[in-house]
Amino acid sequence: MTCLQAAINAGADAVYLGVDVFNMRCGASANFSREALPEASRRCREAGVRLYLTVNTIVFEDELPKVEELLAFAKPYIDAAIVSDWAVFLACKRLGIPIHVSTQMSCANSAAATFLKEMGAERVVLARECTLDEVSEIKRKSSIEIETFVHGAICVAESGRCFLSHEAYGFSANRGECRQPCRRFYRVQEIREDAHSTATFDVAGHTIFSAKDLFSLPFLDRLVAAGVASFKIEGRGRNAEYVATVTKAYRTARDAVLAGTFTPELVRELTEACTRVYHRDLGTGLYYGRPGKEQFVADGTENLATIRKMHLGVVTEYYLRTHTVLMKVHNDALHPGDKLSIQGDKTGVVELSPAEVFINGRSVTKARKGADATFACATPVQPGDVVYQLNKV
Ligand code: SF4
Repeated sequence: MTCLQAAINAGADAVYLGVDVFNMRCGASANFSREALPEASRRCREAGVRLYLTVNTIVFEDELPKVEELLAFAKPYIDAAIVSDWAVFLACKRLGIPIHVSTQMSCANSAAATFLKEMGAERVVLARECTLDEVSEIKRKSSIEIETFVHGAICVAESGRCFLSHEAYGFSANRGECRQPCRRFYRVQEIREDAHSTATFDVAGHTIFSAKDLFSLPFLDRLVAAGVASFKIEGRGRNAEYVATVTKAYRTARDAVLAGTFTPELVRELTEACTRVYHRDLGTGLYYGRPGKEQFVADGTENLATIRKMHLGVVTEYYLRTHTVLMKVHNDALHPGDKLSIQGDKTGVVELSPAEVFINGRSVTKARKGADATFACATPVQPGDVVYQLNKV
């Protein structure tokens, strides 16, 4: 819910989420529950943000009633379902739920897009294998709304076709349980009959399976020009500041493209913002053609965020009249001028840098572990929100 609120606050037009099962993040501990869906929907509607339910795993025969029941439950709360299995597609049609075709269906040409429209889909999230020129051509030749991924992790295998996790660990990516073996280190061993060789070689870095993260912000103007109706940011259970930062950056970039103010300076500024939070090596995905060696992670480094957060304490009160936060400091130490991120499920993410810190009304240069400290914060936050200190790596 914190991530949802962060996305709303950062200017997302729509949020997609999974509820319990039949989505690509079934294995994620922070997935939404059924109980949380009405509240998620209320918040989105209040903010004029659309809410899409992802129901995009493979569905087996004995699961058909369960999937239909989930959709019927969710219908009052959502604006569309993102689907990949035809059974789910048909169930949505029966129930009158608008249909967005998931990238898991691997739609990569205009004939398929047109067919999906004829079948009743409103929008298609194209396969990530499509180049910019192909996206443009698919849009030109078909009248369906096009959505494309613009940011985040990329699978090394074709959209919706990876069995690596299932093969390695028995957890299927196509059932939302991917354990991401493509991100691991590997060793190559010689196998030659009668040679009794034990020769093994460590493969340098991750380069054989691990694709760079997609970062299309620098060429977002080209995606707008291609006629893409909706840009999708990939999340993989990322934390709230990732959601807040990346969403805000792409919102700003997209607005600038439409306003004619999308300059190299702005791209530099937004790139710097995006690299503050979790990311691996950044690349252009497949938008500029089939990937070569340069589209794979070079040295295996998993997180290149330039800012790391430290748990500093918890908000105990927020005084609306004076716009003041009272917090309990749990870790050494809070100082005036610290960069702080306050996070909570109603608050989302609020970043600030208090010019002054007080203890018992007295201005201090340091509030140590155990202190009850106050500082000004223009945006309301909630008791129980967590306060993080943001530090340069
Ligand atoms: S193993 Fe890697 S490439 Fe395959 S589905 Fe999982 S994340 Fe994607």
